[in-house]
Amino acid sequence: MTRNTVVCLSCQKVMQRERSGAVVLVEADFGPYQLYYADLFVCEFCGKKVVSSFAHAPFAEHHQPDFAAKLAKAEIVARVQ
Ligand SMILES: [Zn+2]
Repeated sequence: MTRNTVVCLSCQKVMQRERSGAVVLVEADFGPYQLYYADLFVCEFCGKKVVSSFAHAPFAEHHQPDFAAKLAKAEIVARVQ
C-alpha cells in the first residue's frame, strides 16, 4: 500500500490505475472553471471507476486566454461541481 493506493469498498480489492493524466473539469455556477490532471482508477472486479491523485494545481483556469482552447481539446473523464 502507498499513499495513493485506492481500494474498492464494494470488493475490498485494490483498484488499478487505468490512466495517468486524465483530465477533470471543475465547474462553477458561471460555467467551466478549472482543468486538472488526475489519475483514473478502475476496479477490475466490479468495474467501478474513481478519479484520485490530483495534481497540486490546475493546468488551466477560466481567466487564462488559452482556457477555451484547452477546454475544447481536453478529453474530460469527469465533471465536478
Ligand atoms: Zn469493485
